[in-house]
Amino acid sequence: MTDPARPGPAGDVADRAAAGFRHRYGEPPAGRWAAPGRANLIGEHTDYNDGFVLPFALPLRTVVAAARQDGGRWTAWSELSDSPVEFGVDEVAAPGRVAGWGAYVAGVVWALRDAGHDVPGARLAIASDVPVGSGLSSSAALEAAVLAALVDLGGVDLPAERRPRLAQRAENAYVGAPTGIMDQSAVIRCRPGHALFLDCRTESVEHIPFDLATAGLAVLVVDSRAPHRHAGGEYASRRASCERAAKLLGVAALRDVPAAGLDEALALLDDDETRRRVRHVVTENQRVLDTVELLRAGRIRDIGPLLTASHASMRDDFEITVPEIDTAVEAALAAGAYGARMTGGGFGGCVLALVDADRADAASAAVTTAYAARDFPAPNFHLTTPNTHPRP
Ligand code: ADP
Ligand code: MG
Repeated sequence: MTDPARPGPAGDVADRAAAGFRHRYGEPPAGRWAAPGRANLIGEHTDYNDGFVLPFALPLRTVVAAARQDGGRWTAWSELSDSPVEFGVDEVAAPGRVAGWGAYVAGVVWALRDAGHDVPGARLAIASDVPVGSGLSSSAALEAAVLAALVDLGGVDLPAERRPRLAQRAENAYVGAPTGIMDQSAVIRCRPGHALFLDCRTESVEHIPFDLATAGLAVLVVDSRAPHRHAGGEYASRRASCERAAKLLGVAALRDVPAAGLDEALALLDDDETRRRVRHVVTENQRVLDTVELLRAGRIRDIGPLLTASHASMRDDFEITVPEIDTAVEAALAAGAYGARMTGGGFGGCVLALVDADRADAASAAVTTAYAARDFPAPNFHLTTPNTHPRP
């Protein structure tokens, strides 16, 4: 895999996928399929507590150019890797037989076959603008684009609402990464100009208007480039705390503690750390609900304080931020952002800031200056108005 900090290849991503296919396989692809990266507007560490999340699709995409190939074999090439991948039915008979980035492709083939679908052999060429490993869900974008390609090439009837579970199975069971349902739901089900209000308990979704462009707004995504320090172990320990707290409180999950019952619940817990963890999850769920209400009322700017409160809660109560992330949030706010917060699991990843579209450059300049003052490696920026993510 190339260095994620390296600037991406030039040219349109869909053109690159098609050109890569022609170059590699000596013929044009049968078609192109795409899935976007995503950012979570608000609702962090609520997913495994059966709570609420509110992701939206970014105008960054992964595109798969593909065509059928006979003989139950799959060949995949990605512009991000020097090593193409090839496997047959034996490797997708059970998880774990293809490693590296090819596991995401093989995992999708395995999950489809395991669910009883007849998946055709295929050649795939993959190009992407989604930064890899930054928390913008390049993994789900890859799974979703590969899934869409295989389903269409094979004439498989698989409605959109059933696709996230299959893609998630590829990542959980084949790749071995324990992720929730948010990423795959977001990249498969988000609609232009909307955020996706997802109830992680019932998996029901609602498309909430989030038309930044019309409001003269933009979301600035700052890739903090902070190394993911101990992210795996910290994630597991946060999750364990939440599960223990739910047991102590006698509820199935922390989602069942309403914000109005928070003080009463906290009084039942005897250590301060657990109380802070619970307070984050309960208040964060409420902030998602409040954000949805404001967006429904068309009051996009007014969600700013909720975003910033979410950040403070992650910093002080859930303790999952790092100095680079806090610096980016503070600098964006000082430069006039309506709100800013870390997005993603924590210990690195990205910050998002809600800004007037014509103030986005000033906000990114302020973050760059604040980083330089603290000797952090320069961050990367993506500007997004989620009302456009063109099809391939
Ligand atoms: P994130 O989803 O936040 O970007 P992950 O660690 O979940 O980070 O997924 C990144 C991994 O997904 C990469 O290391 C690689 O194996 C795979 N991947 C994602 N996009 C591509 C791509 N375009 N080409 C090849 N592999 C990819
Ligand atoms: Mg991922």
